[in-house]
Amino acid sequence: MRRYSAFAIAREAARHHLGWERAWRSPTPKARYDVIIVGAGGHGLATAYYLGKNHGIRNVAVIEKGWLGGGNTGRNTTIIRSNYLQDPSAAIYEKARSLYETLSQELNYNIMFSPRGVMMLAQTEHEIRGYRRTAHANALQGVTTEFIGPAKVKELCPIINVKGPRYPVLGALWQARAGTARHDAVAWGYARACSDMGMDIIQQTEVTGVRREGGKVTGVDTTKGFIGCSRLGIVVAGHSGVMAERAGFRLPIESVALQALVSEPIKPVMDVVVMANTVHGYMSQSDKGEMVIGGGADGYNNYTQRGSFHHVEETVRALVETFPIISRLKMLRWWGGIVDMTGDRSPIISKTPVDGIFVNCGWGTGGFKAIPGSGWAMAELMAKGHSPLADDFSLDRFREGRFIDESVAAGVAH
Ligand SMILES: Cc1cc2nc3c(=O)[nH]c(=O)nc-3n(C[C@H](O)[C@H](O)[C@H](O)COP(=O)(O)OP(=O)(O)OC[C@H]3O[C@@H](n4cnc5c(N)ncnc54)[C@H](O)[C@@H]3O)c2cc1C
Repeated sequence: MRRYSAFAIAREAARHHLGWERAWRSPTPKARYDVIIVGAGGHGLATAYYLGKNHGIRNVAVIEKGWLGGGNTGRNTTIIRSNYLQDPSAAIYEKARSLYETLSQELNYNIMFSPRGVMMLAQTEHEIRGYRRTAHANALQGVTTEFIGPAKVKELCPIINVKGPRYPVLGALWQARAGTARHDAVAWGYARACSDMGMDIIQQTEVTGVRREGGKVTGVDTTKGFIGCSRLGIVVAGHSGVMAERAGFRLPIESVALQALVSEPIKPVMDVVVMANTVHGYMSQSDKGEMVIGGGADGYNNYTQRGSFHHVEETVRALVETFPIISRLKMLRWWGGIVDMTGDRSPIISKTPVDGIFVNCGWGTGGFKAIPGSGWAMAELMAKGHSPLADDFSLDRFREGRFIDESVAAGVAH
């Protein structure tokens, strides 16, 4: 039996908007865990889940300074696809996409995966060449994509203006089983499954320091005191540089604001996701009817969780050009997240210079789609010391010049 009074648990539940059962587990951390994960975003929670499910490691705590999914996981535009160019990327993103297909059943929690199809418009000759190349690479990788012509684009999404004033639509890279999911449900579903396995999810608790002895991690200092662990996973996206510094090493990573907005809700007008990389904007329609619109990343490092105004203006201008019917819609909400960008626009899933500390970051503007695959790989790395899905994404690649260059392939990078 736990030693907390019913009053203390009820107070925690009310304060942190937790379910009764999760509050039962969360108020006072244990003194020592096998594994601590810092960050209760999708990647941190998925790591904890697969540690328990695939490797039987259940003495795990996930420590979160805010609330479940309150970072980028609950702020993104939910696009899921796996049509990347490089083999290691296609492997991990396709693993993630295929896990998404059955995640609702697996977690017994409706994450609303909607494989409605994603098209990336080709609006220059250069993009046609690039996307044809990606389609060929995907065929070899076992990822189902195809290059389609403008007539098929118009058939799939009648509201597109294929004769755009600046850039006509010349075709598109189309992935029919790509799509969207409800982002915060992904965090909630994984969290509940972790909680059911007996793991502790400790919210409203910031990790402020990392303790080491003889080059090995021994635990973390938090705003609620010291908590010991044998292994530590740092999974904090835009704050990876900050946490790495607290752990005594540096990461080749930059943090910038990326923003998104939604319009007022309207009747269904599009049932696919469209990304227009040349004019720069992308759009889908949520189940509520809002047009979900993604903008660009700031050109300078910052932690504002807001972003610059001119990006919104540029994005809306690009999308009005592509979808003239949205020109009179009102904007309903606008927000930003802090994304973690590496030089080659690929993630880092790696051991670190400190024994027992592992890092998972660098997903930048496109990591929502990777959550199940990333958690799977990170858990395997932490349990076994290596993972076929993660090995190419190690920190060594920056020293050895083995970059996984996805910046051209990904374009707008979601
Ligand atoms: C506007 C926007 C649009 C996007 N669109 C897409 C998209 O369409 N498709 C796609 O695939 N990706 C998209 N992304 C990217 C995607 O959201 C991220 O790559 C992904 O959510 C990262 O998940 P995470 O779990 O690594 O990080 P997060 O969800 O940010 O979780 C990290 C957590 O760590 C916590 N934390 C930080 N420091 C500490 C500390 N010291 N102690 C304790 N906790 C700490 C934070 O509070 C946070 O909750 C978008 C991102 C943004 C911002």
